[in-house]
Amino acid sequence: MPGILVLATTKDGRLSRDTLELLAGASRLKEKLAQPVAAAILGTEVGSYVPLLFAHGADQVYRAEHPLLKGYQGDAYTLALHQICERAQPSVVLLPGDVTGRELGPRLAYRLQAAFIGEFIDFDLDQASGRLQFTRSAYGGKAMAVVQPRMNSVVATAKLRTLEPAVREEGRTGEEIRVDVVLEASQLKTHLTKRVQEEATGINLGDAKIVVSGGRGIHGSDGFKLLEELAQVLRGAVGASRAATDAGWVPPSWQIGQTGRTVNPELYLAFGISGATQHVAGISGSKCIVAVNTDPAAPIFKVAQLGIVEDWKAVATALTQHCRELTKR
Ligand SMILES: Cc1cc2nc3c(=O)[nH]c(=O)nc-3n(C[C@H](O)[C@H](O)[C@H](O)COP(=O)(O)OP(=O)(O)OC[C@H]3O[C@@H](n4cnc5c(N)ncnc54)[C@H](O)[C@@H]3O)c2cc1C
Repeated sequence: MPGILVLATTKDGRLSRDTLELLAGASRLKEKLAQPVAAAILGTEVGSYVPLLFAHGADQVYRAEHPLLKGYQGDAYTLALHQICERAQPSVVLLPGDVTGRELGPRLAYRLQAAFIGEFIDFDLDQASGRLQFTRSAYGGKAMAVVQPRMNSVVATAKLRTLEPAVREEGRTGEEIRVDVVLEASQLKTHLTKRVQEEATGINLGDAKIVVSGGRGIHGSDGFKLLEELAQVLRGAVGASRAATDAGWVPPSWQIGQTGRTVNPELYLAFGISGATQHVAGISGSKCIVAVNTDPAAPIFKVAQLGIVEDWKAVATALTQHCRELTKR
C-alpha cells in the first residue's frame, strides 16, 4: 500500500523539531489520503530514534545504517533515500524546507519520476478531482499559488515553522524495517572535508518565543549589541532583515524572510525594518508584531499589531532598562 514517507533528521541526540513538524503534516495527510505514515532514518547508529518516531506518529520506520551515512552527505543520502523509496513505494515524500530538502528533493523526484513541490505551507484535497494540492507562496510572498501535481507520486519540502510539531503519544508503536542500502564511496561525487559549527549563543531563533529583530535602520553591528542585550533580558533570540545580514552586521543565519528563516514567536519586535514582502513572508506566523520605525509610512506598520514611530535606539534602550528592573523584583 502506498504511504507517506517523512525523512527524519536528528539534532543533539534528539529528533529535530523539523522532523516533528513533518510528522504532524504527515498525520494530517494520513487522514486525507487514508495511507499510513512512514519515517526514514539514515545514519550509523540510529536505532534509539525508532521508538521516538513511532511515538510521534510513524506507523513504520525504515532504518538504514551505513558508514557512508555518518553525517549528512547529499549524494549518499540521495542514493539511500531512493533505495528506501523503491522499497516503500510512497505516494508522498516529505522533506524539510531547508538546505537538506532543497538538495535532496529535486534529485529524489527525478529518480522517482515524481513531481516536486518546494516549500509548501499548506495542503488539501481538491474537492472536484480528489487529488492532493499544495499551497505555496509566489511572487516573493505577494500571492499564494495552489499547485496540483499531475503525477501520482510527489516529493515535497515543507516550509519550516509553519506546522506545529507532532505531540508525543506514549505507548504508540509500529513496524521497524531494516534496509541494507548499497553504497560505494566511489559513488559520492563530493566529500565533506570540514564541518564548521556556528557558535550558538542564547536561544535558537526558530524556537524562540520572543524574537528581537533589526534591519538597515539599526545602522551597524554596534546597534545589534543593544538588541542582543534586550533579547537576553527577554529570554528571546535576535533576528535580522536581509539588509542587515547582507551588510555583514550579523551572521547570515540570523536572516528572517523568504530566503531566510521563518519564525512564529509569541512576540516579534521589529526595529528599523521597513517591512518588505520578502521579510514579512518569514514573520506572518508571529502572534504579535511590534514595529519601531521613524517613518510613519513604513509598510511594517500594516502588519504590526502595535506600531511606534520613534528612533529604534530610544525604544530599545528604555525597554531593556524597564525589563531589567522588572526581572529584578
Ligand atoms: C528574491 C529576494 C529575496 C529576499 N529575501 C529576503 C529575506 O528573506 N529577508 C529580508 O529581510 N529581505 C529579503 N529581501 C530583501 C527585501 O526586499 C528588502 O530589501 C529588505 O527586507 C529590506 O531590509 P530592511 O527593512 O532592513 O531595510 P530598509 O528597507 O532599507 O528599511 C530600513 C527601515 O529602517 C527605518 N529606519 C531608519 N533609521 C531608523 C531609526 N533610527 N529608527 C527606526 N527606524 C529607522 C527606515 O524608515 C526604514 O523603514 C529579498 C529580496 C529579494 C529580491
